[in-house]
Amino acid sequence: MERLDAFMARANAAYYAARDPFADFTTAPEISQVFGELLGAWAAEVWEAMGAPVPVLLAEAGPGRGTLMADALRAVGQTAPAFAAALRLHLIETSPRLRAAQAERLPAATWHDRIAELPPGPLLLLANEFLDALPIRQFIRRDGAWRERFVADGNFVERSPSPDCPPIGETDASPLPLWAWAAKQTKVGGGVTAPEGTVIEHPSAALPLISALAARIAAQGGAALFLDYGPAVSAPGDSLQALRNRRPADPLAEPGSADLTAHVDFATLAEAARAAGADTYGPEPQGLFLARLGLFQRTGMLARQNPGRMEELRAAAARLAEPDQMGRLFKALAVCHPALPMPPGFAE
Ligand code: SAH
Repeated sequence: MERLDAFMARANAAYYAARDPFADFTTAPEISQVFGELLGAWAAEVWEAMGAPVPVLLAEAGPGRGTLMADALRAVGQTAPAFAAALRLHLIETSPRLRAAQAERLPAATWHDRIAELPPGPLLLLANEFLDALPIRQFIRRDGAWRERFVADGNFVERSPSPDCPPIGETDASPLPLWAWAAKQTKVGGGVTAPEGTVIEHPSAALPLISALAARIAAQGGAALFLDYGPAVSAPGDSLQALRNRRPADPLAEPGSADLTAHVDFATLAEAARAAGADTYGPEPQGLFLARLGLFQRTGMLARQNPGRMEELRAAAARLAEPDQMGRLFKALAVCHPALPMPPGFAE
């Protein structure tokens, strides 16, 4: 029997080590080159606002095939040569297989297993669909109390918090006391307690990660930009999902054979980042965020240069930005040093 976050960590490590994730799902940088180009321009502009420090760490967490960063670097090479010369590229990737794919496109990078291993200094960090792959814990309301979900032989089993799990009320993995977090999550209008069977999720890996990153940014300067899918407001619900061959699969069956993700609880992560001393912007719907960065102008320019690809480029931009496609469910969240102005793409 394994706690859900331990199961998810093990399953995803096996999955990313052994399989080509892009056979199972498609991500924004694989849809349009403009995605990475705009994020490169975003980083260059924030770097200017930081006072153009030299050198500066440009990092990406979970770079996949390296597409986003390759597009970003090509764009800044053309439009922001001073930033291109100042940046030192660092990639956070645990999968040896994906590291090899990234090295083909980004030979000058230095790799790390964890964000905490980055060298010190001003930092710009990008991450697309990274947080959704991080392990979560789930609790379920039974008989007026919270039970935790464990995994045994492909099924959930419910247990009261066990010796290997921090008691509800205090958790060393979280800067927020878990009980306060759970109470907030389960307020179903007017402070009503959660009905029987309600599932709540705790981002047990992302919370300490974002707290440490925010503290580092507050102390050493810089900003981080996360794009991922999840609600704007924390809400109860089981969002654990598995994709295999582009189709939903049973998340608990055959660990390592499917990509496991959960919705990102942006509000809780932003609160933790602010508690650690950083400013946050968003979560902003991806469609609005990319439109403000110039998604449609850049797409139009590319289409004029490549008239044969016009339809494909337009369709790709629409897929990223339309509310009924990726434009609304996906969000952008920025974590910034408090002295920085509002970064591009966000609004008051
Ligand atoms: N950002 C890419 C890939 C998203 S898939 C894109 O948009 O296409 C998730 C990525 O995060 C993969 O590169 C995966 O190997 C990496 N990853 C997943 N869990 C990780 C962890 N705990 N630490 C570091 N990298 C992780």
